[in-house]
Amino acid sequence: MLFLDQLFQNIKTYKDKPALEFVGADKTTTLSYQELGQAIEKAAQYLQSLGVTGGDRVAIQLPKSLEFIYLHLAAMRLGAISLPLNPGFPATELEYFLSDSEAKVFFADSKAKAELDPMLGKFSHLSRIFVNLGQGLNLSTPDSALPPLPTDTNATALMIYTSGTTGRPKGAELSHGNLSTNLSDLYTAWQWQADDVLLHVLPIFHTHGLVVALHGALHAGASTTILEKFDAWQTLDLLLSKRFSVFMAVPTIHSRLLDEAGTQTFDLNFIRLMTSGSAGLPEDVFERFQKTFKYTLLERYGMTETGMNLSNPFEGERKLGSVGLPLPSVEARVVQPETETPLPDGEVGEVQIKGKHVFKGYWRQPEKTDESFSPDGWLRTGDLGLRDMGGYYHLKGRSKDLIISGGFNVYPPEVELVLSEHPGIAATAVIGCPDKDWGEQVVAVIQAKAGLKLTEVEIISFCKERLANYKTPKAVKFVTDLPRNAMGKVQKNQLRSELCQNKTETV
Ligand code: AMP
Repeated sequence: MLFLDQLFQNIKTYKDKPALEFVGADKTTTLSYQELGQAIEKAAQYLQSLGVTGGDRVAIQLPKSLEFIYLHLAAMRLGAISLPLNPGFPATELEYFLSDSEAKVFFADSKAKAELDPMLGKFSHLSRIFVNLGQGLNLSTPDSALPPLPTDTNATALMIYTSGTTGRPKGAELSHGNLSTNLSDLYTAWQWQADDVLLHVLPIFHTHGLVVALHGALHAGASTTILEKFDAWQTLDLLLSKRFSVFMAVPTIHSRLLDEAGTQTFDLNFIRLMTSGSAGLPEDVFERFQKTFKYTLLERYGMTETGMNLSNPFEGERKLGSVGLPLPSVEARVVQPETETPLPDGEVGEVQIKGKHVFKGYWRQPEKTDESFSPDGWLRTGDLGLRDMGGYYHLKGRSKDLIISGGFNVYPPEVELVLSEHPGIAATAVIGCPDKDWGEQVVAVIQAKAGLKLTEVEIISFCKERLANYKTPKAVKFVTDLPRNAMGKVQKNQLRSELCQNKTETV
């Protein structure tokens, strides 16, 4: 069943049951399934009055809000394409997204009007709507007949621009069929239940917060409490309140919860499902979470282009350092990156994925789409990893991040893991910088713990005792903060361009 069919069935079945509770800075708004259904229909009529029809792009650059959710679901309901955009994108970046997508309508926060208006003037055919958040959509649109729910599984429902670690961001097109396949996989694998209550703290312009968490709960007929902004104290307090059975987060958030707990321990084991993803879960966070909260986090792996691919089992072993096993309808393999021949278990290569959840392609970029698939139709994820004897996958970094130094492959996560054991290091990223003798040299970028002063010599000798020589960083750069994107992922591209330009000193 398609996601929207399931959602509208849930609206009928669960009527007065809370669907969404939105906790904003000033007020909390609760919406039953029936009220959510009405809000979606009203927003769809409004979009229709703006001329939006099937296939049109509806760009939504609103902060996390109920208005965002209504418009997003209404766009898909109409058969149009919902295009969520990070509210942090400045006008210059936004201009690219609007012109590349040829969006028909654009929604933004009324507070951003003055900044965006001059740029928006360039788009003569774009309807631009500035929303006063927190007041609902306040629509005076007359009732109008809506088309039936979309039935074409292959029609694009959602387009999300990928982080774009290389080149310009590309719009990944996800069809109604892609979304539904993945949701039913997760429903089964994570044993979603209608009486689940999700605590939602993630951004909703990204697949993790929007599709995996929010759609996941709506698809299950569950209730969701949405925090407008993540706050570690508030989140921990709510998790301890025993109201929630599902919590999804990125490693940075799990770390912040651990910092909040400090030396105290709590029992969160009554929570049915707590997941981690979007970036590798450091082993010490996994272990500290077990000690501090008596809960073994379930790590999973996915990407914008696919939704979720691999997950540790809900029942069964949640393995430290592993992203788990393929979801029910997902096929996965590890191949030698150049020849794309499958590798035996235990060997590191590129992780490739197949399944009905894999995206249609990049918006108007057929060559880029072709490049992202092997000749026999597997998606090239660009992630390196291995499968162990038990069938569990372990990620070893991005292929673009792989460092080849003196002909040897160095997987940054292995060096990062060693560095994370140093008591003075708060966070670290290992990158390759060009080197005339070695091709690339291993460079450690270090964020020291507050108030501590570390030296390059000390870090290098710490690594020398624990790593082969070719894996040991040849240079160390200290930063006050590692650059991260909205999902907490370290932006290694930025580090490479900022720190590799000047020849790094070798020791
Ligand atoms: P995005 O498209 O922004 O969701 O980014 C997808 C990328 O995030 C993947 O290709 C991986 O590199 C990374 N990723 C997602 N989940 C994990 C995980 N559990 N461990 C390590 N990396 C992950």
